[in-house]
Amino acid sequence: MSQPDPMPAPAMGEPYLLTPGPLTTAFSVKQAMLRDWGSWDADFRAMTKSMCDQLVALAGAPQDEFVCVPMQGSGSYCVEAMLGTMVPRDGKVLVLANGAYGLRAAEALRYIGRAHRLIDKGDYMPPRGDEVGAALDADPAITHVIAIHCETSSGILNPVAEISEAVHARGRKLLIDSMSAFGAVDLDVTRIRCEAVVSSANKCIEGVPGFGFVIARRTELQAAKGNCHSLSLDVHAQWVNMVKSGQWRYTPPTHVVAAFLEALRLHREEGGVAARGARYARNRDVLVAGMRALGFETLLQDRWLSPIIVTFFCPADPNFSFARFYDLMKARGFIIYPGKLTVVDSFRIGVIGQLDEEVMRRVVSAAQDCLTEMGVASAAPPASALAERARLEA
Ligand SMILES: *Cc1c(COP(=O)(O)O)cnc(C)c1O
Repeated sequence: MSQPDPMPAPAMGEPYLLTPGPLTTAFSVKQAMLRDWGSWDADFRAMTKSMCDQLVALAGAPQDEFVCVPMQGSGSYCVEAMLGTMVPRDGKVLVLANGAYGLRAAEALRYIGRAHRLIDKGDYMPPRGDEVGAALDADPAITHVIAIHCETSSGILNPVAEISEAVHARGRKLLIDSMSAFGAVDLDVTRIRCEAVVSSANKCIEGVPGFGFVIARRTELQAAKGNCHSLSLDVHAQWVNMVKSGQWRYTPPTHVVAAFLEALRLHREEGGVAARGARYARNRDVLVAGMRALGFETLLQDRWLSPIIVTFFCPADPNFSFARFYDLMKARGFIIYPGKLTVVDSFRIGVIGQLDEEVMRRVVSAAQDCLTEMGVASAAPPASALAERARLEA
């Protein structure tokens, strides 16, 4: 008898999602949604409590120093909730942007009327500790800094440890959008000091979409009472209600929470953050080596490549069209992701979700077939793309 497939295909005819969430989830995660829960019932309240305790532990945080508050909505709702709650109305935020998610944080601050200054590094150049330090020295009004852990629009893993050092050496507070990294990239809040971290259900924990969570330093959250501009996005109010009654303030996504608990169980069974990160890193390594062998080039040098999602330049060959490549890959069972660079054409392939090295080998082989079918002789990018990349090396 043959061994069972260690990572079975998502379901009959269902393509793999090579995207940074929603992503391909385990069958048991989907199955966990086949039951209804009363949001007021003690069983569901216990599920919420267990989930929050596990998330604080995943952040490496002592339960007495940090608390986890889940919030309904997609990740962006939770980023906005974190900013609106943790930053006082007379506070000022330094936003470190090198892609769409950093810029979105700045836009949220504009909407909610919080003063901010933006360091915009363009499509992917990383914000470094020394420039953060210089910006803070130059503007004593800045109270908080927001950094993006993995900037999913390019796939760069930003240097949050050196940013944290620069921020705390100057007595300011750090908020981290670890949406696409939490659960797979170590973010031990006792080593990388920060006041709050935000992530969501449908990224590296491999749940389905529907809520996110803020893991905040207890004293900071206590001090945040009355800061928020919004009723439903008030993390402090949600926390107070949860402590008092064990309930979410407004209708929770019950099925999504049940699925998330199963996803957390699988995460633990796999070996936690280190093992999840190691599987994703192997996925990335197999993908990058295979694609490079076909002539593709990555936007980033190896030291900046996250184990989450990888940006590749589109080939210079005039026979290559991303729309066609997308359709041909989809026909082979793989949903890829368009690029988000403003200067050169690119596409992205995610390596998170229920995927392993064997799946990534099949992705590379599918890409090779697609190139042949399009009549693309070489996957090499245009010289302009390589010139762009040389900026990072300079
Ligand atoms: C996914 C993601 C978000 C949230 O996006 P939503 O579409 O609102 O879920 C925020 N920041 C980063 C870095 C992300 O990867």
